[in-house]
Amino acid sequence: ALDAAFFVRWMTVSSAAVDREADHLTELDSAIGDADHGSNMQRGFAAVAKVLETEPPATPGAVLIAAGRQLISTVGGASGPLYGTLLRRSGKALGEASEVTADQLREGLRAGVDAVAQLGGSAPGDKTMLDALYPAVEALAGASGSFDAAADAAQKGALATVPLQARKGRASYLGERSVGHQDPGATSSALLFAALAEAAK
Ligand code: ADP
Ligand code: MG
Ligand code: MG
Repeated sequence: ALDAAFFVRWMTVSSAAVDREADHLTELDSAIGDADHGSNMQRGFAAVAKVLETEPPATPGAVLIAAGRQLISTVGGASGPLYGTLLRRSGKALGEASEVTADQLREGLRAGVDAVAQLGGSAPGDKTMLDALYPAVEALAGASGSFDAAADAAQKGALATVPLQARKGRASYLGERSVGHQDPGATSSALLFAALAEAAK
C-alpha cells in the first residue's frame, strides 16, 4: 500500500526531476510560449518540496492537497492553477485514509485530471498537459507495477503532441505555427509520472 511517506517521496523526486529538466522545459516553451515553463515548475516544486519537508502531512490525501496549494500560490503561469488543481482534487479524492492502493490512486488521479480539463476548458488532442495525463492514468492498473507503464504512456503522449496544432493556452495564439513542437506542459507531466515510477522502486 502507498502511505504518506511514499507520496512525499513522489513529490520530492518530482521536484528533483523538474529542477534537472528546467532548461529543457523552458526551451520547449520558448518555441511555442513565453519561455517560462521551466522556471515556473522549478519555483513551484521547490516550494512543494520545502513545505513537505518542514511540515510533512499524515495522509496521502493531505500530501497532495498541500502540494497543490503550494503550486497555486507560487506559480503565476497557467500551469500553476492547472497542476495545483490536479494535485488538490486528486488528494481530496483520496480522502483521509493513511494508506491507499494503486487502484485508489488511479481513481484519485482520474478525478484530478478531469478537474484540470474542466478548469482549462480543454480536452485530449488540444496539445496540452492532458495529452500526457490522460494516457498515463489509463495505463495505471491495480498494482504499483503499472507505474512504469504509466510513465511510458505519459512519455509517448508528450511526444505525440509534436504534430498537433495547439487549441488551448498561449501556444494556440500561434495557430499552425504551433505544429512541429512538443508541448512543454505535456513534457512536464511525463516527468511527474516518471517520478511516480521512480518513487515506487
Ligand atoms: P503560461 O502559458 O501561463 O506561461 P506555463 O508556460 O507554465 O504557463 O505552462 C504552459 C503549459 O500549460 C502548456 O504547455 C500546456 O501544457 C498547459 N496549458 C495551458 N493552457 C492549458 C489549458 N487550457 N488546459 C490544459 N493545459 C493547459
Ligand atoms: Mg509559459
Ligand atoms: Mg507565462
